[in-house]
Amino acid sequence: MPVLKQLAALVSWAQAQQALIIHRIENDLRRDIEENLGPVEGSLALSAAAAEVGSALNLPHMSALALVSESGTLCTVNRSTHAQLSRGSISYRHAQRIMDELQTVPSHAAPKFEDELIQLAEGRTCAQFAVKARRMRESRWPETITVRHRQALELRRVSLDPKPDGMMELCALVAAEKGQAIFNSLTASARAARSAGDQRTLDQLRTDSLTSLLLKVPSSAGSSPAGSSLPSSGELAAAAAAPVPLPAEDPAGIRTEIMVLIDAETLIGTDDKPAELNGYGPIAADAARRLAGQALHWTGILRDNSSGEILAVGRRRKVPAGLRRWLQARDGTCRFPGCRVSTFRTEIDHTVPWGQGGQTDHGNLSNLCPKHHRLKTLGLWEARQPQPGKLEWVSPLRRRYSTAAQLDFGTTQVTPASAAKSDGAHRRTRPRPSTAGEDPPPF
Ligand SMILES: [Zn+2]
Repeated sequence: MPVLKQLAALVSWAQAQQALIIHRIENDLRRDIEENLGPVEGSLALSAAAAEVGSALNLPHMSALALVSESGTLCTVNRSTHAQLSRGSISYRHAQRIMDELQTVPSHAAPKFEDELIQLAEGRTCAQFAVKARRMRESRWPETITVRHRQALELRRVSLDPKPDGMMELCALVAAEKGQAIFNSLTASARAARSAGDQRTLDQLRTDSLTSLLLKVPSSAGSSPAGSSLPSSGELAAAAAAPVPLPAEDPAGIRTEIMVLIDAETLIGTDDKPAELNGYGPIAADAARRLAGQALHWTGILRDNSSGEILAVGRRRKVPAGLRRWLQARDGTCRFPGCRVSTFRTEIDHTVPWGQGGQTDHGNLSNLCPKHHRLKTLGLWEARQPQPGKLEWVSPLRRRYSTAAQLDFGTTQVTPASAAKSDGAHRRTRPRPSTAGEDPPPF
């Protein structure tokens, strides 16, 4: 199949060209930043290049960062590998594998070993090559496994992957022996439950015991939120629900929260509109009410029922808790193109800076993660918000992007049918100033 082989070679060549261009973008941005902002840390240029490349290729930030970093390595350190990629005799995945294997090889031995790896890669699938390459590297430099494991351990993490139908996959990257021990322990407890007559499957039992070990729902679950009055009909309610105490040995004793945005009518049970679980999306009304029953506090978010407009607080710089929670739910993540950092780790940015007359209004506010907030504050990226929740960006290379809010309650009309179901109490027809003074402190 010569055509297929030629096409594969063309793809490799294109990826080698892409690496050259990405590396040039990084160099150009580094030079521009140094000329305009003076000496700054090297990671800013890398981050700016990742933002530019990620936005152009629709890649999440971490993938873009890896691509920029790999391009730099291919164009400066592992040039033989880059030349081979250009010739089309290895794939980009083979090149990534070669770079991985070379990372901890002593520098004096690296060029010779790189050539050997290139020869080994040709004619083998990536998986076959990976096994042989790892074996070869381990036999020659066995001492580096300690260093590599220490470096890999630095990357341990827990992450979330939203799944359909109200489900979420919780993943943990841990040391192999700990992962094995946790799984074995969950399996042992699941088997014991099965022997005692529990009808749930092993998978269900493992999952349930992990959940109950990590989540200790307080005994007050199901009671009304303490110390806060429920929002009036016609409002949205942001409930900081389900406090999750970490195990007792956690020295910080940190308590974390999740946020549910729910219509007041749905909350009191006269309506069944889906609620919004921040960071996930719509969840069923009864699931939201169950979570809301465990809420420690509520924040009412005022909304004009005729226009759906969310409140603004004008020329006050500080963003009140109600507005902040609305923005968390509306944005879901950092609003930079492609960024998925959750709004629990973002900062509120005035799109037109407050110092330049920008209003503290949902139409002039958005969530940005610290990294992207900094790119905007430094003037590397420019943003405008032509309508509430819609952000338009201009990159340092003058490319334009726009990002939309994940939630659009702000422009959703409230239908007469749902209005008729309300108890009619305290209905608001105009946006009003925030009730921030009565709000509990933000999470
Ligand atoms: Zn971001």
